[in-house]
Amino acid sequence: MSGAFYDLHLHSCLSPCGDNDMTPNNIANMAVLNGLQIIALTDHNSCKNCPAILKAAQELPLTVIPGMELCTSEEVHVVCLFYSLAEAMAFDAYVHEKLPDIQNRPDIFGEQRILDEQDNLIGTEPKLLINAADISVMDLKELSRQFHMLCFPAHIDKDSNSIIANLGWIPDECAFTAVEIAHVENIEPYRQQYPNIRPMRVVTDSDAHYLWDIAEAVRTLPVDPAHPEQLLDLLQSAAG
Ligand SMILES: [Zn+2]
Ligand SMILES: [Zn+2]
Repeated sequence: MSGAFYDLHLHSCLSPCGDNDMTPNNIANMAVLNGLQIIALTDHNSCKNCPAILKAAQELPLTVIPGMELCTSEEVHVVCLFYSLAEAMAFDAYVHEKLPDIQNRPDIFGEQRILDEQDNLIGTEPKLLINAADISVMDLKELSRQFHMLCFPAHIDKDSNSIIANLGWIPDECAFTAVEIAHVENIEPYRQQYPNIRPMRVVTDSDAHYLWDIAEAVRTLPVDPAHPEQLLDLLQSAAG
């Protein structure tokens, strides 16, 4: 098996600071043009554009995994990926309740646009999605079981909103089986410095907020691109 070209961390126009051109169809088509085979849509604290992009990708040679980039109460970003859209939307509702009641400022953060599969505007999210939800990283092990999701700490080598920057280490109690490292050259130094990363799977994603930032076909995971559950299972298994 040659593997699947992937990018598991992408933001749509629903995310604060997500470009309005990051529509479900534009993201899916750009991913195909770039040669990607599996992507995940991971807006900040919301899955509400996942239904549209899953439908938009149906006729394309592309698999889309419903996801979210959760901001925990520690202001740590965690990528959450789901086996099904129904489970993603259940988690979306759970997180929405746990967000502070602070309204979006469209002049600063954009409209937080919710689109349908033809990229028509069907709503906007009134709550500001960039805030921390009242969910601790320590809750994620149990929530992963409850919502049948796979979570990994995002961009652990960044200075802000990363588990290492904010907590100083990756607590073993979180039971993470994978991590995202933004810059490939940091993988070995981080494995050296934080030994509990060594058995974890490491992914590198674009974290794109603009179409031109979506990854090229450079990194693969050894899974069948037609079977996203294989990717989720792989990221939950110990690295060889
Ligand atoms: Zn982030
Ligand atoms: Zn992100």
